[in-house]
Amino acid sequence: MIEDKIEDVIIIGGGVCGCSLLYELSRYRIKTLLLEKENDVADGTSKANSAIVHSGYDPAPGTMMARYNVEGNALIERICADLDIMYKKIGSLVVGFDETDRKSIENLYVKGNKNCVPGLRIVEGKELFSMEPALNRDIKCALYAPTAGILSPWEFAIANAECAVKGGAKVEFNAEVTGIKKENGHFVVDTVKGEYRARFVVNAAGVNSDIVSGMADEKSFTIQPKRGEYYILDTTEAKLVGMVVFPCPSKLGKGVLVAPTVHGNIIVGPDSTDCDRGATESTVAGLEYVVKNALRCVPSVNMRSSIRNFSGVRADAGLEDFIVGESKRTPGFFNIAGIKSPGLTSSPAIARDVAGMLLDKGLDSTPNPGFVAKRKVTRFKYLSDDEKKEAIKKNPLYGTIVCRCETVTEGEIVDALNRPLPPRSLDAVKRRCTSGMGRCQGGFCGPRVMALIAKYTNIGSVDIPLDKEGMYIVTGKTKGKRAIL
Ligand SMILES: Cc1cc2nc3c(=O)[nH]c(=O)nc-3n(C[C@H](O)[C@H](O)[C@H](O)COP(=O)(O)OP(=O)(O)OC[C@H]3O[C@@H](n4cnc5c(N)ncnc54)[C@H](O)[C@@H]3O)c2cc1C
Repeated sequence: MIEDKIEDVIIIGGGVCGCSLLYELSRYRIKTLLLEKENDVADGTSKANSAIVHSGYDPAPGTMMARYNVEGNALIERICADLDIMYKKIGSLVVGFDETDRKSIENLYVKGNKNCVPGLRIVEGKELFSMEPALNRDIKCALYAPTAGILSPWEFAIANAECAVKGGAKVEFNAEVTGIKKENGHFVVDTVKGEYRARFVVNAAGVNSDIVSGMADEKSFTIQPKRGEYYILDTTEAKLVGMVVFPCPSKLGKGVLVAPTVHGNIIVGPDSTDCDRGATESTVAGLEYVVKNALRCVPSVNMRSSIRNFSGVRADAGLEDFIVGESKRTPGFFNIAGIKSPGLTSSPAIARDVAGMLLDKGLDSTPNPGFVAKRKVTRFKYLSDDEKKEAIKKNPLYGTIVCRCETVTEGEIVDALNRPLPPRSLDAVKRRCTSGMGRCQGGFCGPRVMALIAKYTNIGSVDIPLDKEGMYIVTGKTKGKRAIL
């Protein structure tokens, strides 16, 4: 029966927006399928950004962006507690050097109050430098936003998707969408793997959202990708700043920030440059710009402690707002598009809104008895000594350290390989367990993680990619029998 093969909803794209919507829809008896072109969720912009939970003073009052930002900020705190996602509410400062900056900060304060951002204050002098001693002493004042936070953005997407799948939703990887048509009242979505059918389609394809939208609709917007480059500093620099430190925003965006990460590093960046889709290389010019601007606000940033550079690409539709809602020309086709910053912060609020729109179209709102409201993962490094002993007693695999830089155990990697959406690449394990995120960047633990993937999945060791399909690490055996852990 073809009817049995028709999903209620197909979501295209497994970034934070697609995965948040998948989770939101899993609350109900709705058949949902997420199609993702890569071999993991959070493998696009959602894995490469500043990871800030913005408080919401920046978007123009009255926009969807302003509402989603402030609602998303509050939702993220709750979701991270429920789904055991690394998150810290640490506050942010936008710092100003002169009278022009002061006006800009006062303007942000007014906008923030219009957007209902709680607790905003303009701070200066002794109070400011006691809050953040590493700031440049030429700084005259700052906007303090206590509700700003930091989180693990890829873990946010993974946790939402894992719980949704446990609750009955489906995810198809390596399924790039190539065409969308309507047939007998439902959508037929063509992919490189075959066709899928659904009553409703939601386009959450990030920097490709204009292309995907054009498959179902007349092209109504264009994405100009904009790259942002970063440095990650070693955990030795962890005490540099306690809050997110921004300069005043400009035409190029929120500017180069210096901030802690939830993993105990310092993140420095980004710049903003027009680029091609997926052009995530690092450039000399981009990195020089980042260093110069970071040192202006926090002169003691020690760039020699850099352990990694990366870049992410913004999906900029050239608008002051996100594109969220049902297409006027193609009923049943929804866009979550042009989701530039603060898209990570906004994603759970966007998901709630779009889920509501879909329910209004007649989807079954009966609660799903299998809905997964909570998730718990073991992070060995953060356990007390007694808890570590107890964990090893229950599962001796927690007694073997695989990644020494980040103290990641074999038990945690095997746990990840046994959860829904098991990792299929070295970086997918890294995103779930933090192995390879430390000073040596996987130099020591990489081969051991590969051996575990080969042991616990059906992927042969020579077929394990570093990240996306085709990014192979080894081509064959060099010395006869492969080393075993
Ligand atoms: C430099 C930078 C800094 C940022 N900093 C912050 C911040 O601090 N705080 C904040 O709130 N926001 C921030 N953002 C914005 C935030 O990262 C994005 O808004 C968010 O990640 C977008 O999520 P998404 O799900 O819409 O897109 P994505 O994460 O890009 O996901 C889209 C997915 O669709 C898939 N896809 C694409 N085409 C197809 C296809 N044809 N078929 C199937 N799948 C397809 C892709 O592989 C991808 O996985 C930043 C962005 C950048 C680039």
